[in-house]
Amino acid sequence: MHTPTDFTPSHLAPNPLPGTTLVFAYCDTKLLVGGPEEAPIVPLLEQLRGAGVSGACHYLGELAGVPCVAMVLANDTPAPEGFRCAGLRTLFFRLPEPLLALGGRAFQVVEWDRTHRFCGRCGTPTRDRAEERAKECPACGYVAYPRMSPAMMALVTRGRELLLARSHRFPQATYSALAGFVEPGETIEDCVRREVREEVGIEVANVTYFASQSWPFPHSLMIAYTAEYAGGELKPDGSEIADVRWFSADALPKMPPSLSIARRLIDATAARLRQSGT
Ligand SMILES: [Zn+2]
Repeated sequence: MHTPTDFTPSHLAPNPLPGTTLVFAYCDTKLLVGGPEEAPIVPLLEQLRGAGVSGACHYLGELAGVPCVAMVLANDTPAPEGFRCAGLRTLFFRLPEPLLALGGRAFQVVEWDRTHRFCGRCGTPTRDRAEERAKECPACGYVAYPRMSPAMMALVTRGRELLLARSHRFPQATYSALAGFVEPGETIEDCVRREVREEVGIEVANVTYFASQSWPFPHSLMIAYTAEYAGGELKPDGSEIADVRWFSADALPKMPPSLSIARRLIDATAARLRQSGT
C-alpha cells in the first residue's frame, strides 16, 4: 500500500466531476465494486448515478489522468444490482495494486469523515475546509485532520536467526515480526526498543530503518525496522504474544501474505543473513 507512481493527489475536485470519475464508495468498512468475483471493477460515477447511489464525496486526485473520489455511503445502503460490497482484504491480489492502494487511501478519508462529524472539543457539527483536507469547528475553531496512527514493526536478528512471534490476534499459526503503536513522546526507535522489551523481554541495538507502508485497517502507517539482539532472555508477554521463537533463516515458519510489509521485511532480512554466511 503506497502511492501509485501515476497518481497525483489533490483535495480540489474539478467542477463538475466527469462521469468517468472512479468512485471508491464505502458502506461501513466495505468497498462497493462491480464485475466478477475474481476480477472486481471500481465503478464510475456515471454508473453509480445511474443506479441511484450517492453520498458525500471527497476528492482524492487523478490516477493516470482519471479523477478519483472517496464516497461515504450510509451504512445500510444496499448494493445495487450488479455490484457488491467487499472487505478491502478480500480484494488483495484481485484488484490491481494501484486501485487497491487508492481503495486504502479512500477508506481512511471516509473513516475520518464519519468520525469527525462533530467537534471533539465542544460538540458542534464540523464543516469541511475548502483549502485543505480538514474539518473545522465553526464555534471554537478546532481543526481535525485525517487520523494517522504510526506503528513500528521490528524484526530482531541474532546471528543467522530471526525472532518471530505469533500473536493472539493473528489468525491460524502465522509467525511475524513484532509490532506496536508509537506512544506520545516517543521516537519510532524508542518505540522499537520499548515494544521489544515489553512483548518479549529482550534488549536490542542497531535499530535500522527498512521501509514503510500505509495500512488502512483502519489508519496505520507501518514503519518497519531491523534490530540486533543485545541481551536478555525471551519472556513473552502472555496477553499479546502467544508464542515467540528464534528461527533459522533457512527454516522459517508459516508467514504473512506477500503484500504485507511484514513479509517483505522477513524475506529481505532472511536473504541477507543467508548471503552473509554467518
Ligand atoms: Zn468546537
